[in-house]
Amino acid sequence: MRRTKIVDILNEEKKGEELLVKGWVRTRRGNKQINFIAVNDGSVIHNLQVVADVEKIGEELLRRVTTGAALAVKGELRESEGKGQSMELLASEIEVIGDCDPNLFPLQPKKHSLEFLRENAHLRFRTNTFSAIARIRHAMIFAVHKFFTDNGFVNIHTPIITSSDAEGAGEMFQVTTLDLKNTPKDDNGAIDFSKDFFGRAANLTVSGQLEGELAAMGLADIYTFGPTFRAENSNTTRHLAEFWMIEPEMAFYDLNDNMDLAERFLKYLISYVLENCTDDLGFLSQRLKDEEKNRKADERSMDLIEKLKFVLSDDFVRITYSEAIEILRNSKPNKKGKFSYKIEGFGADLQSEHERFLVEKHFKKPVILTDYPKDIKAFYMKLNEDNKTVRAMDVLFPQIGEIIGGSQREESYDKLVERMDEMYIPKEEMWWYLDTRKFGAVPHSGFGLGFERMIQFVTGMGNIRDVIPFPRTPKSAEF
Ligand code: ATP
Ligand code: MN
Repeated sequence: MRRTKIVDILNEEKKGEELLVKGWVRTRRGNKQINFIAVNDGSVIHNLQVVADVEKIGEELLRRVTTGAALAVKGELRESEGKGQSMELLASEIEVIGDCDPNLFPLQPKKHSLEFLRENAHLRFRTNTFSAIARIRHAMIFAVHKFFTDNGFVNIHTPIITSSDAEGAGEMFQVTTLDLKNTPKDDNGAIDFSKDFFGRAANLTVSGQLEGELAAMGLADIYTFGPTFRAENSNTTRHLAEFWMIEPEMAFYDLNDNMDLAERFLKYLISYVLENCTDDLGFLSQRLKDEEKNRKADERSMDLIEKLKFVLSDDFVRITYSEAIEILRNSKPNKKGKFSYKIEGFGADLQSEHERFLVEKHFKKPVILTDYPKDIKAFYMKLNEDNKTVRAMDVLFPQIGEIIGGSQREESYDKLVERMDEMYIPKEEMWWYLDTRKFGAVPHSGFGLGFERMIQFVTGMGNIRDVIPFPRTPKSAEF
């Protein structure tokens, strides 16, 4: 007999059919005559209720039906008389595929803290919260590819190992096969990377953008979706050392086109999840409500699903960095010294507290900030006529702060070289990047969306470690 997934049982009319179901036991309860076993197979947030006649199935076997055990159950699907489910499986045969000692299994049929589950990341796929997040993550991956495919973009695999450290100076993981206890030295006593695997120093990429730009200079509309690595020692709830980034790059786009695309893309992802992940979102929304039930009514956050719909309903606010600085400078928390970093004026790098103030308190909508000071942004961003600001854009979201960072790129060879000199970017190594400004250069733009930050927003999870299966953070790379 073929196995039927629980998601199909709940979605399709299968009443009266003989079915085979395989999954893991969440709970077993009952009495001497009858047992109710909640089985979950990962296909959907809901469990299937299995009804077992103790005499028929056997007391001895049912004793092995403990939380965490894996089962195969044959039986007839019938309408349930009990509360909480519409269908149940009346077991004719139960096989314990994998036993699970309840005294050793770390997951009990109760609520565990997220910290505890992080320490047991190898088992947390068995929980409602993490299976819901994993399914939403999957749906979002699919939606990313669908959006760009439908819009005529080409997906490009940019390298994971790179030798350019143009962007993330000091924040890169080195890649080497040299014997660290006995490194070859050059005449100056420095490590001789010409003896290394690639004949030069190499790193894990912090962004696929530079290579993405090369591809856009022929394919016009491209996107990357790959892992990126940052050795920044920021132990926050929004930073990982290994995270996934989506980076579209478009020829013939100016900053406005770029903002339009970013807004349309974010809204598409949110509507996709709203339409396709109803049950998992419903579960996560209830989870947040339970978490906040002891808070005062006015301190509770907006319902998750309401929040997602809310983002869809309005245009994002678009203002310049300079306008934002004025708002922040004159804001109550700034005047009362409530920000950890006081905003004095133009030039300040915005912290997430400032970003969140603009979005959550001042505008109460997502905000796109443009035209940042050139000194706090990367060398490749297009310089404005004022010579002071660049055509950068950061998209700021409630709860998250910066979710997208992007810009129109500098397409003028001379201006780009000037910026590289000013910022001490080694030009020789970047000859291939500079070539694109020599041969048929066009205005172009792009941005990077941090995939995990997007999932945090959509799932309402406060800590980025809980939206990636195996988080990598400073001092932590278990599993
Ligand atoms: P932040 O100031 O928040 O550290 P950033 O300016 O370093 O971000 P970018 O280099 O512009 O970010 O990267 C593009 C996007 O990648 C960001 O908007 C964010 O969504 C995401 N991102 C950046 N760093 C991380 C990280 N360490 N972990 C997870 N996502 C990240
Ligand atoms: Mn950063």
